[in-house]
Amino acid sequence: IVIVLSSWNVLRFQVVVKCRPLCEKERQRNRDIVRVNDNKEIVILDPDLSKDYLERVQNRTKEKKYCFDYAFGPESANLDVYKTSVLSKVAGVIQGLNTTVFAYGSTGSFIHVAHEDENDDKTSVGIGLIFNGCGKTYTMAGTRDDPGLMVLSLHTIFDLIKRDCSSDAFEVTCSYLEVYNEVIYDLLEKSSGHLELREDPEHGTVVAGLRCIKVHSADRILELLNQGNSRRKTESTEANATSSRSHAVLEITVKRRQRNQYQNQVIRGKLALVDLAGRQVHETTFYERASETNNHGQKLRDGANINRSLLALANCINALGKQQKKGLAYVPYRNSKLTRILKDGLSGNSRTVMIATVSPSDNQYHHTVNTLKYADRAK
Ligand code: ADP
Ligand code: MG
Repeated sequence: IVIVLSSWNVLRFQVVVKCRPLCEKERQRNRDIVRVNDNKEIVILDPDLSKDYLERVQNRTKEKKYCFDYAFGPESANLDVYKTSVLSKVAGVIQGLNTTVFAYGSTGSFIHVAHEDENDDKTSVGIGLIFNGCGKTYTMAGTRDDPGLMVLSLHTIFDLIKRDCSSDAFEVTCSYLEVYNEVIYDLLEKSSGHLELREDPEHGTVVAGLRCIKVHSADRILELLNQGNSRRKTESTEANATSSRSHAVLEITVKRRQRNQYQNQVIRGKLALVDLAGRQVHETTFYERASETNNHGQKLRDGANINRSLLALANCINALGKQQKKGLAYVPYRNSKLTRILKDGLSGNSRTVMIATVSPSDNQYHHTVNTLKYADRAK
C-alpha cells in the first residue's frame, strides 16, 4: 500500500526545468554555462572557476548537477514541455481534477558595471546594463511561433470538450487576476478596485467580486488574456523595461454536468496557470539592487511584497515536497494572498507542475543555482 500511495503521490507534484537560449546580446558577451543531458539532468558550470572553460568541462570539475522529472534545453519548444508534463493533467481537468501550473525563476539581472567591483572578472565584459529574464512569461504565454503553456492548455480543453462522446454538458468559465503588493486586482475589468478574499463554505477560498466569464472557445480566452496582460502592472526601471512586478493567475473552471439515466451530477475541475513575478535572490537587496536601478520608495516596497508572496509559495512547496516524501506535513497556505488563492489547486488530490526556468548565461550563475536548489528541494 505504501508503494502504491507514494508512486501516486510522485505524480502529484512534478518539477520540470527549462533553460532558455542565450539571446543575441548575451551571445556577444556571455558564455553558455548550462548543459542538459537526456531530458533529465542539468549541469551548471561555475563561471568564476572556469577560466579555461573547455578544460573544466573535460575534467568535469566545478560543476553542479541536478536531476528532475524532465529537463529541457535551449532547443526545446514550449510544446515539448507541454506534451511531457502538462497535457495529461489538463486532460484531468475535464474529469473534475484540479491542476496548477506555474513558472518559477529569478527576475534576471544585469551585466555589472565596471566600477562596481573591480575584482569581479565579469566587469571585463564592459560597461552597460543588460537585463534578461529567465523565461517565465515566455513559457506561460509564449509567442505566435512557440505558443506557451497557457495557450496550449486552452486549446486542449476545448478540443477535448469537442471530442467528448458522452451526453454531458460542459461549461467553461475563466477569471484572470493579479496580485500586486499583496493586493488583488481583476485583470478582466477595465479599472478594477482592490478585491478581497473570502472563505466560502462550499467553494473554499474565493476572491469576492472577481469577474468570471463564460467562454466557448480558446481564442476568446486568449483575447481576454491579452487584454488582461495589457493591464498588468509592470514598472519600467532603467534596468528592465518589462519585468512583471505582479503575479498573474489565469483560472479556467470546467463544470461538467453528467447526464444519463442513473445520475445527474455536476463535477468541477479547475486549472490555474500562474505567471509569477521574479524571485530576488539576495533577500537584503529586495527586488533589484537599488544602486543598479535608481529605484527608491515604491519599487523597493514592491520587491519586499513580491518576496513575501514568493517566500510563502516557496514554504508551501517545501512543505508539499516533505508531504510527498514523508507523509503528513503542515502546509502554511495562509501566509500570503497568492498561496491562499492557489490553495485549492495545490492541496487535496490536485496536481501541480512547477517549471523552473533558468538562463544559460554566465552572468546569471547565482540566480540559476538558486532556482535549481529550490526546485530540487521541491521534488
Ligand atoms: P521572465 O518572465 O522570466 O522575466 P521572459 O519570459 O520575459 O522572462 O524572457 C526574457 C527574454 O528571453 C525575453 O526576451 C524572451 O523573449 C526571451 N526568451 C525566453 N525564453 C525563450 C526561449 N525559449 N526561446 C527564445 N527566447 C526566449
Ligand atoms: Mg515575466
